[in-house]
Amino acid sequence: MDNPHLKQACYVSGQWISARSGATFPVTDPASGETIAAVPDCGAEETQAAIIAAERALPGWRALTAEQRSDCLIRLHDLMLGNLTTLAELLVCENGKPRAEAEGEIRYAAGFVRWFAAEGRRIYGETIPASHPDKRLLVTRQPVGVCALITPWNFPCAMLARKLAPALAAGCTVVAKPAEETPLSALALAALCEQAGIPGGVVNVVTSRAPEVVGGVLTASPVVRKLSFTGSTEVGELLMTQCAPTLKRLSLELGGSAPLIVFKDADLKKAVDGAMASKYRNCGQTCVASNRFLIHDSLVERFAAMVTSRSSQLQQGHGLKASTTIGPMISRSARDKVARLVSDAISKGATVWCGGPPTGSGLFVAPTVLTGITGEMDLWREEIFGPVVAIRSFWHEEDAVTLANATPYGLAAYFFTEDLARSWRVSEALDFGMVGVNTGMMSTPQAPFGGVKRSGIGREGSRHGLDEYLELKYTCIAL
Ligand code: NAP
Repeated sequence: MDNPHLKQACYVSGQWISARSGATFPVTDPASGETIAAVPDCGAEETQAAIIAAERALPGWRALTAEQRSDCLIRLHDLMLGNLTTLAELLVCENGKPRAEAEGEIRYAAGFVRWFAAEGRRIYGETIPASHPDKRLLVTRQPVGVCALITPWNFPCAMLARKLAPALAAGCTVVAKPAEETPLSALALAALCEQAGIPGGVVNVVTSRAPEVVGGVLTASPVVRKLSFTGSTEVGELLMTQCAPTLKRLSLELGGSAPLIVFKDADLKKAVDGAMASKYRNCGQTCVASNRFLIHDSLVERFAAMVTSRSSQLQQGHGLKASTTIGPMISRSARDKVARLVSDAISKGATVWCGGPPTGSGLFVAPTVLTGITGEMDLWREEIFGPVVAIRSFWHEEDAVTLANATPYGLAAYFFTEDLARSWRVSEALDFGMVGVNTGMMSTPQAPFGGVKRSGIGREGSRHGLDEYLELKYTCIAL
């Protein structure tokens, strides 16, 4: 593949390295099935070297002024936007998303870098009135230390930037492990960090197809003081257990099963726009994708017809083709999971409005709209992670809220209504970390992103995202 950001080596201690064993693993374009690169298949030794590099770089990095660190991040932001087109092309080739979405992801990722470049200059402390006249009580905020960042394949640039930027702004150093399917965007970001003048060892990226080995070393190390993980709930829970013996700080951004509720008084056009935006981005493979559509019984036929008409217009293809508006699934197992869920729903009585179980040999899955969904169907209980609109009807507001909350997940929820009182009532009743009212898109660097229940712990983005990388220190001075 010909791309100026293509790096086929890991970045440790400011050096571009191979695995000690020389082993590599292939990176595949999911749209074409072609191998586009080979990156080092690192193990325990390289991960340990990266931890040591991050530990050595920590004193120098945290000693810089907030303004000096902010300047580095501003340079990184400018480099990301200056290389938007080529970074997006790299992302399309490893992940499959259409070019417009990939460009949107790079802008979104750069937005976090700019946000935390500014927030890092506002790491303020406190003074507390003492009970004794000869004491002065101070609170300062200090970097947590060396952080491990483990990221998924669905937003390979943005998920890393959302962790990296606050970590660096706070004065932490990092060891990042990107997903096996999409390591190239992370390596490209590391190269831009190097160009931005961030000292060697501050940012380290280790690629591997043995995540349990790299994850094992990162979680067992007493040097690593924090783990920030985005991925599945199962792996998040495993990593939390592994972090227990060294009591690490944890940020876990895990799975979701977002409800999208359309009330009787909704503006149907807004609801359909919201459904399209929240469902089909990245071919339905987002943690905040609407997973369970709850539509007022009187609107089901009209809503399904409108969504079917819009879904049928989506153009599948390679993300670099100008006409493409929806790409492939990331992998065979992701495609097979959607096939299983759709077949199960049909066998239990769902009506197919468009699409259906994938039949071809590639990784493309046609946008699918189903009505007549019930709680017995697997797709109502599992995170679909694919381009499937699964519609269930309801009559009363309380029933919709009860059904929406009846999930172990609690990341994002959406609902549509033109009634102001209902907006407040339902928003407060939904047991989710993020609620979109009359919108299907709500993520932005200045707002806190994260979930409750089995969707995770902590928040990314916003001023709260910086606190995840800071410890409070209380100092008591006796005069
Ligand atoms: P995953 O299998 O949990 O993988 C995520 C990352 O964890 C990858 O880098 C993976 O490496 C690594 N990993 C896997 N097993 C590991 C282990 N034993 N120790 C250490 N690391 C390990 O998740 P996924 O299927 O790629 O991602 C989809 C999931 O992420 C969905 O559930 C989605 O909802 C969630 N997600 C959540 C958010 C959020 O912000 N809440 C955002 C995006 C995605 P390999 O690639 O080598 O397996």
